[in-house]
Amino acid sequence: MDAGAERVAEGDAVSVAMGRAYEIVIGIETHVELGTLSKMFCGCSARWFGMPPNTLVCPVCLGLPGALPVPNRRAIELAMTAGLALHCEVPEHTKFDRKNYMYPDLPKGYQISQYDLPLNVKGWLEIPADGGGTKRVGIIRAHLEEDTGKLLHGQGYSLVDFNRSGVPLLEIVSAPDMSSVTEALAYAEALREIVIHAGVSEFRLEEGAARFDTNVSIRFREGGEVRWPPQSEIKNLNSLRAVEQAATFEAQRLWDDWHAGGEIRSRRAKITVGWSPETGRTFLQRRKEEAEDYRYFPEPDLVALAPSRETVATIRSSLPEMPSERRARLASQHGLSDYDARILVSDPALAALFEDAVGLGADPKVTANWIGGETLRLLRERSVRAAEIPFTAAQLAQLVGLITTREISATIAKDVFAEMWASRTDPAAIVEEKGLRQVSDEGALGAVVDQVLAAQAKAATDYRGGNKRALEALFGAVMGRTKGKADPRVVRRLLTEKLG
Ligand code: ZN
Ligand code: MN
Repeated sequence: MDAGAERVAEGDAVSVAMGRAYEIVIGIETHVELGTLSKMFCGCSARWFGMPPNTLVCPVCLGLPGALPVPNRRAIELAMTAGLALHCEVPEHTKFDRKNYMYPDLPKGYQISQYDLPLNVKGWLEIPADGGGTKRVGIIRAHLEEDTGKLLHGQGYSLVDFNRSGVPLLEIVSAPDMSSVTEALAYAEALREIVIHAGVSEFRLEEGAARFDTNVSIRFREGGEVRWPPQSEIKNLNSLRAVEQAATFEAQRLWDDWHAGGEIRSRRAKITVGWSPETGRTFLQRRKEEAEDYRYFPEPDLVALAPSRETVATIRSSLPEMPSERRARLASQHGLSDYDARILVSDPALAALFEDAVGLGADPKVTANWIGGETLRLLRERSVRAAEIPFTAAQLAQLVGLITTREISATIAKDVFAEMWASRTDPAAIVEEKGLRQVSDEGALGAVVDQVLAAQAKAATDYRGGNKRALEALFGAVMGRTKGKADPRVVRRLLTEKLG
């Protein structure tokens, strides 16, 4: 095979990446629940996670005969907010449609969705491109629909919980613009940040309140012709790791199947597959699925939606600062590295904590280090969301102040931080109460250094004899005797002076 970076004209210009046997083509459909208090078409609570099964239900979300839907205004506003944050157009005429399919977690036998006139169209977002620089990924549409219930499968039986049924759901459909798994992950991460920053949803992947359907196909040249067999749609991936592993596996499987003369050679339509993290493999779900299978028709129980231009303008002008702009501003305003800015902006709650603490006079670099370091570590370790950090920006600013004025050492600061997290006490009070203030007094430290040198005469001799590592034992002994409170810089200086 002629694997070059050469362009081949066959319909669209197609390039096969240099050095790779095939090019991966990825498009992602993202389902994300909107952060409303109530459901899409009834007054039931939309906060279903962790609630006892079938306690948040009514005739509307149970699909009982004669029940009529009433649209949730807030959900429509949030859906438009997301669309505008993704640079979409909001058309003047949009409507709801019925998507008919029979599934036990869909009590009406259809889902209210949007078919040919979605609420948002023709947007884009920007990601870091594989070859350097940035790349725009098209957003084909972002439409509003309702979530389904949840099935729980046991041994020989299945249970259904309708608490999630009717929760407002935004389906965001990207163009097949990602050319690698890395770009697919960058897209998913960028989308997550934008949706969270726009205040539209918390994007809780771990609760199943956001899911990715990933369309994977491979494109390559064979015998002078470009081959682009139909894609696989990998359904309901609920983490970035799952997207990465499933897309990598499926692309290779399609390639292997092609070379084994498998069914991909004769197949005309896409297939739908599931992902099993246990086996690390995809498995076939459905062979063929076309729009006509769903017998879409306009929802007769709802009037068409015609968002006024004023409403669209109001929402657009009240959009908050988006992640890429915020990163650039934090980096230039506070001299942060791109890495630090990226960590802070990964969650608006972290960025707000940083800006509030710095606004109170805390050193920006040290503050960024404590947010990206200990704070993130404890959030992950304890599965706490950034919005639920137990200390305040004022407390963080105070801790940073104690560190930069060298009133406490870095080691002690970690203990104070843990205590501040656990008891929500001000760090200055913790330092005072436990007597943790750093000792920099040369007289006091000099006495301790003399004691250590006398007690560890052998280490002192070794050091003078040229074994520089002996200094670490002496240093450790001084820090131990002062319970970590000694100023390490002063200790090192006194040691080398007295040993010299
Ligand atoms: Zn309901
Ligand atoms: Mn959908």
